[in-house]
Amino acid sequence: MEDSKIIKEINVYAVATDPVYMGTGGYTIGRVDNTIVRDPTTKIPKIPGSSLAGTWRYYVALKLFGFWKEKIEKLKEEDEKFNEFKEKLKGIGEIEDTKIDSLNKDELKTTSLKDFLLSLFEELGLKIEKNGNKKNGKLEKQKKIFEKLYEVFNSELENKWFAFEGNRYAGIKCAGQDDKPNIDYESAKDEKTGHCGRCIVCKAFGFSKKDVSWQGLVYFSDLNILFFPVYTRFGVKWITSKRILEDAGIKCNDAPKNNDEVLTKKGDEEHINLGWLYLKVRNSHNLNDNAIPKIDGIEIKAEDIIIVPDDLISQIINSNLEVRTSVSIDPITGTAKEGALFTSEAIPRGTIFYGKIRIFDKKPFEEINDDKTNKLKPLPTFKMIKDALKDSKIFFETLGIGGMTTRGFGRLKIELFDEN
Ligand SMILES: [Zn+2]
Repeated sequence: MEDSKIIKEINVYAVATDPVYMGTGGYTIGRVDNTIVRDPTTKIPKIPGSSLAGTWRYYVALKLFGFWKEKIEKLKEEDEKFNEFKEKLKGIGEIEDTKIDSLNKDELKTTSLKDFLLSLFEELGLKIEKNGNKKNGKLEKQKKIFEKLYEVFNSELENKWFAFEGNRYAGIKCAGQDDKPNIDYESAKDEKTGHCGRCIVCKAFGFSKKDVSWQGLVYFSDLNILFFPVYTRFGVKWITSKRILEDAGIKCNDAPKNNDEVLTKKGDEEHINLGWLYLKVRNSHNLNDNAIPKIDGIEIKAEDIIIVPDDLISQIINSNLEVRTSVSIDPITGTAKEGALFTSEAIPRGTIFYGKIRIFDKKPFEEINDDKTNKLKPLPTFKMIKDALKDSKIFFETLGIGGMTTRGFGRLKIELFDEN
């Protein structure tokens, strides 16, 4: 049943292991110079889906690039592997054995998968000239060579998304902005820069060329705050509200009745301070430990959660953001610029976010016989895209998201859960 669904949802939970700064482009509100993105209605800070998509696109490309680079370097270094590869190439049967035997390893480039394949095709006399005639079967042979290369490493692969057919055109160029959107789709695959339009990155995240525009197969919601850390006299507690819990699909039977009340797990503290706010503890909430997602070993206990009124949560979050003062450094003198003191606000470390990823499984539509679909064949499967996201999320833990990542901001741990 599940598998027949066209749109599949993945729940995303994330915990900020650094303060997270998602800038609005720097205008001043009150005392803060560098403000962050907020939901227009609730005024609660968030990580916009567009930022998440852009960053994740880059990390999938990085993962893919790193994977193949490592594999082809290994192939070139290890004679045993290289001989295995040559035997596989002979198995194709359409390339002369003598050509394969006389392959000179030193001529093969390892700077990227694409460079490797191009140098290999050249050595084997299978290079396709620009505007050349494709009907000579060179393209078919190229495809088969990629499949053989993949077969050599197949046993070392856990996830098949690395081997998606279109990946042989991929490069770091497929991450980030396309600097060549005005060329046509056909010539995009031969360009050194700009989106290739063929690899799993381009097909999953979308691309746009002069004659073909493709929206992509993955949609990212915003990452909204689910639990927000606040300092209290009982230590750090995480606040949330009934509406926020319900938006994340977590059942919550009770909520504070008045705007000066909160619910805690114990319910008998009488009063609690949330930052500078002093609130009455009304009674206990019904959340238990297993209702709260564990994110990569990071676990928040029900006893550390406080449910605050829906009308108050935005105010509490906004008055407990991390505010940092920095100085701009003059790049020439290496000292502080005069009058260059500025403040930035950020979502604090320990904040838990929630969002959704929707993956459009268009694989079954490949059979539709229109021009565009024909051009875009083959499409990656749902599993390939999901695995690509899972395998690349590790980069959020080191490279982070948003601004000021070189100043110790932006790292996130992310956990993905299938819909059920
Ligand atoms: Zn691409």
